[in-house]
Amino acid sequence: MPPKPLLSAPDTLCPCGTQKPLRDCCLPFINGSNNPLTAEQLMRSRYSAHALLAIDYLWDTWSPEQRLRSSKDDILAWAESCDWLGLQILGTQQGGTNDDTGIVEFIALFRQQGKMHQHHEVSQFKKILGKWLYVDHQT
Ligand SMILES: [Zn+2]
Repeated sequence: MPPKPLLSAPDTLCPCGTQKPLRDCCLPFINGSNNPLTAEQLMRSRYSAHALLAIDYLWDTWSPEQRLRSSKDDILAWAESCDWLGLQILGTQQGGTNDDTGIVEFIALFRQQGKMHQHHEVSQFKKILGKWLYVDHQT
């Protein structure tokens, strides 16, 4: 496993782009001390988890259906192959503290094999037993 420098540097700005230190943003979700209250918070923390190679968190916040189709090794290989350069949230529908489903549209910027990519996705989230999970993206 490669080192995860940011996880041990909680004062670094969070990769998700809020301009807040990691410890006041996505880190409490990723290290399990808090659960995201909104779908957007989960979305942001999953982006940060890609950047931090926090594979267990990505796995645990995936819907059970998705886990059947993949593996932690697949997620790690994908996350490691990219330099994660930024996240932009374009909009959300529902996904609030009193909702059980939510939609977040975002663009993630990354570089892979020297090429820049913009991943534009409309993600679906649902809350199960009080915990937000990533379900799938709309096609
Ligand atoms: Zn964050």
